[in-house]
Amino acid sequence: MHGKDIKITGIRKDFGATNVLKSIDLHVRKGEFLTLLGPSGCGKSTLLRLIAGFDVPTSGSIEIGGRDVTRLAPKEREIAMVFQSYALYPHMTARRNMSVPLEMQRLSFAQRLPGAALVSGKIRQIRKEIAVDVERVCEQLGLASLLDRKPAQLSGGQRQRVAVGRALVREPSVFLMDEPLSNLDAKLRNQLREELADLQRRTGITFVFVTHDQKEAMALSDRIALMQDGQVVQCGAPDEIYRVPNHVSVARFVGSVA
Ligand code: ADP
Ligand code: MG
Repeated sequence: MHGKDIKITGIRKDFGATNVLKSIDLHVRKGEFLTLLGPSGCGKSTLLRLIAGFDVPTSGSIEIGGRDVTRLAPKEREIAMVFQSYALYPHMTARRNMSVPLEMQRLSFAQRLPGAALVSGKIRQIRKEIAVDVERVCEQLGLASLLDRKPAQLSGGQRQRVAVGRALVREPSVFLMDEPLSNLDAKLRNQLREELADLQRRTGITFVFVTHDQKEAMALSDRIALMQDGQVVQCGAPDEIYRVPNHVSVARFVGSVA
């Protein structure tokens, strides 16, 4: 898998008369783990949703891997997103939860092929490929023994792992996560944190991770973009932000001044 870079230029977002993102410029490097860190309400989720394509900016542009995606639908962006709540289908097993998005992606293409016999053969082949891809991701995430369970039979941590797995099987270039660990207890949070960092190193996917938790950001990130009131006030390696805060509000937030 190969990550792609994200170039955010002059992004502004208004909701009605309210200006939520002011003017954001940010370059997420290919294959890095970048965290958007900031207090609740500063605009992290709004920015992530714009990168994902769930909403369009009022002005400014977003490029992924050099391609202007500002007005493209999420499915045209090579991204996958994991949310704070797991959003799994309750009536489906973990295996089905992970295969369904892939089927939608790959079978919609097969169904457009001419010839019924060709189509059913092709569909069988695609289903097999999907099963192999799901197994591979499950090995990586330690999910293999849980594949036949439904969400109600899984713990919170296991559900979130299935949600991560479901996003990963699509082999995204960019992986977007909005506070994916905040519903988990401290022990699981630490464990999943390690797994995510490891996953990023092994896959080379570009990770954009949202949190309001400084410790989490410090532990996980190659770089942190610190947000405040709809702006990125500083972007740099964790130790740089901690040791050389460029603004008193940064220093206060990361706790490097009293
Ligand atoms: P964060 O994720 O950092 O907590 P959000 O991006 O969710 O912050 O929200 C930033 C601000 O934008 C908040 O004041 C929020 O109320 C406002 N906001 C977010 N989405 C909408 C929306 N769809 N309509 C109006 N206001 C919104
Ligand atoms: Mg949020």
